[in-house]
Amino acid sequence: MPLKWKIILINLFEKRIFVHYYLLLLKKDFMRKKIIAGNWKMNKTLPEAILLVNEICQELKARPELINIKDLEIVLAPPFVYLNECYKLIHEFPNVFVASQNCYPEESGAFTGEVSVNMIKSVGAKYIIIGHSERRSYFKEDYLFLARKVLAALKHDMKPIFCIGEVLNEREASQHFEVIRTQLQESLFQLNVVDFEQVIIAYEPVWAIGTGRTASPQQAQEMHAYIRSLIAEKYGDETSQNISLLYGGSCNAQNARELFSMPDVDGGLIGGASLKVQDFITIIESVI
Ligand code: PEP
Repeated sequence: MPLKWKIILINLFEKRIFVHYYLLLLKKDFMRKKIIAGNWKMNKTLPEAILLVNEICQELKARPELINIKDLEIVLAPPFVYLNECYKLIHEFPNVFVASQNCYPEESGAFTGEVSVNMIKSVGAKYIIIGHSERRSYFKEDYLFLARKVLAALKHDMKPIFCIGEVLNEREASQHFEVIRTQLQESLFQLNVVDFEQVIIAYEPVWAIGTGRTASPQQAQEMHAYIRSLIAEKYGDETSQNISLLYGGSCNAQNARELFSMPDVDGGLIGGASLKVQDFITIIESVI
């Protein structure tokens, strides 16, 4: 074979290998992460918030194994007014981030009292909790409004932690699968696949939030597997495997490990227990 052809063949072969490794790397980047997110809700004054974050940081420093895991992210969601202070305290940790608990979907303007995604991003947050059941029930946030918030977050490269979950009556009437399907279809499934892959979904049965009544690991796994199957139907298997699905609802230091041992549970959205340093750290340790 002429040398010229040999060189062309070798080049092609090398390119193929390069492309193969490039795709592998891409795929690795897409692998789903384990995430523990603490939703502080409307708690703490500024000095208390600073104390809590400092204590969490101290505990993390004493456990380098928790901060050097590439596929683990720790997220703190304090009230809006403390986001920047908290960000300044955690930003040196490679896998610790702050999140807002809400956002408004418009960019700016006459929306007194509201906070836009761009503002949230400018104070250091990376995540935004959207669709928490307390926002859905107390503030009557509907599917369409939530879909607009998700789009606004994605437009600014922020990661939505999108909450879904059924109320007790719906579970007792065996409507929980249908409720979850509708929540996903009406607020998320309008996204294209690239945007959808940026979303983290938190399954939070409303009857378990702040009640001390946790879903059993089997109930959580059953619903998470169902959510993944809906994602696979809509976006394909690969995407469904890449999405992090968190469980939320009275997850605590005692039950976290068992919940996180379920194959489709990739971490937790933690309310009450995220305000107690030792409990929160134990919950983080339970996911690795
Ligand atoms: C939450 O508010 O998202 C939550 C899960 O709360 P708790 O852990 O207190 O039930």
